[in-house]
Amino acid sequence: SAKRTPLMAGNWKSNLNHQEAVVLVQKLAWTLSDKRHDYGKVEVAVLPPFTDLRSVQTLVDGDRLSIKYGAQDVSEHDGGAYTGEISAAMLAKLGCSYVVVGHSERREYHSETDQLVNTKAGKAIAAGMVPIVCVGEGLEVRQAGEHVPFTLAQLDGSLAGLTAEQVGALVVAYEPVWAIGTGEVATPDDAQEVCAAIRERVREVHGDAAADAVRVLYGGSVKAANIAGIMERPDIDGALVGGASLQPDEFGGICRFH
Ligand code: PEP
Repeated sequence: SAKRTPLMAGNWKSNLNHQEAVVLVQKLAWTLSDKRHDYGKVEVAVLPPFTDLRSVQTLVDGDRLSIKYGAQDVSEHDGGAYTGEISAAMLAKLGCSYVVVGHSERREYHSETDQLVNTKAGKAIAAGMVPIVCVGEGLEVRQAGEHVPFTLAQLDGSLAGLTAEQVGALVVAYEPVWAIGTGEVATPDDAQEVCAAIRERVREVHGDAAADAVRVLYGGSVKAANIAGIMERPDIDGALVGGASLQPDEFGGICRFH
């Protein structure tokens, strides 16, 4: 099967103004430049609030950092009379590589449906960015043992209409809602079970090339102390990291998992 580059993506959520953002990226760059550690071929990305993106772009470009960056959401519209919306073209112009779509906090607090997430993923792709498509079940679904079918239904809806090539190039983040921000990390076996099911569904629908190329991340209370066991599992290609991504040493520890 294909060799996939691991991705560690830090979701800052609604934290840090543009000055604090610059400090964090500088500290992270310093951490990643420490030759005493092996960061291997891991790809590192930060996902700041929209208002920090220009400052992060200036720092990354000016210092030629290998850190990539992206946004936490994108408008379903191409632009125009949609007050307050940020379009995919605007984000692409700022040098964003990634856009998170369908984070559970947006599904929950902003009533985002699979259909909307699907539209947003399409807009990100059309603008030349890679969507990080978030899926994952809540506690009641997990307790009912329905986590695999629930998550695959979200996946089907969120990726509807995309080509095999488009699906192979994107990132799926499996984030069980009960593990996000709770300190309750999924076990490596639990994370592997659903990430493998996601890859198998991609294989059924889009074939081997897409399934072998698509990167599937785990997210939910990932820390430097628990990432190694998760990354040992064959179908987990990295992590979407919330709280720990605000601490450069901790996030650095996650990035040198191996
Ligand atoms: C997230 O919000 O995507 C996330 C995984 O958060 P945390 O790492 O804080 O659980």
